[in-house]
Amino acid sequence: MKIISGIVPLSLNDYPKEVSFVLFTQGCNLSCSYCFNKELISFDGGKYSIAEISDLISKRKNFISAVVITGGEPLLHFDEIRGLCSQVKKWGLKVKIDSNGLLPDYIARLIRENLIDKVGLDFKGNIDIYRRFLQEKYLGENGININDRKKIDFFLIKKYTEIYNLIRKYPDKFFLRTTVYKPDHSPEILYQQMKALPDDITWFLQSLNKKKLENNNDLITYKKNEISDLFDSPDMKLLRKRKRIKIMYDFQDIIL
Ligand code: SF4
Repeated sequence: MKIISGIVPLSLNDYPKEVSFVLFTQGCNLSCSYCFNKELISFDGGKYSIAEISDLISKRKNFISAVVITGGEPLLHFDEIRGLCSQVKKWGLKVKIDSNGLLPDYIARLIRENLIDKVGLDFKGNIDIYRRFLQEKYLGENGININDRKKIDFFLIKKYTEIYNLIRKYPDKFFLRTTVYKPDHSPEILYQQMKALPDDITWFLQSLNKKKLENNNDLITYKKNEISDLFDSPDMKLLRKRKRIKIMYDFQDIIL
């Protein structure tokens, strides 16, 4: 089955301090209106099978130090991706996998089996934000009707709790990244998010790319000066002092 839609054979940007081979899986369980890779949301359009990708990596394994698996949501193809991770680890390369956090049990399994070194977690904010972008088809596959709000919330709270527990258990494994925008990322939401994070972790915030938004979208980009205001309340300052969480916005330090 062709589940990979694209590759970058050599990258210096996708795994800190490593030279990596990057592959993009096709298909996602969310449909974020600001998605950077919209063509990867549908499950149609894969160009390479895992065997073909494995062959390409094998030919380059002496020139790279890591493989980055991104998407779409790579963990929707768990068996294939697990097999690839296992092969890549046998070659002595590092593995980073990107995920939106809705499949924490798969992340836990890959960490426990020592098949991944890092997780790039696209950490949306809270369950209201996840609910906004959930795909009906994905809910159906989990036996949930799109109109059954109670069941959806129960499903999301369970996933959200599990992913937070994983971040707390393995803080060194995670790179956390959140696309922040109005109105979803209010100071209160960011405060709650930060409160639940472990101490001493780096949290990458990125601005919403307006060009990627669908028409008539109600999401608004924060200006640079507004970002520091989000972290300016006395409660937030106190929390930051206690937790020592480092916050980067578009790769620049947020200094308060
Ligand atoms: S989770 Fe990521 S890949 Fe999936 S739709 Fe959202 S931004 Fe795009």
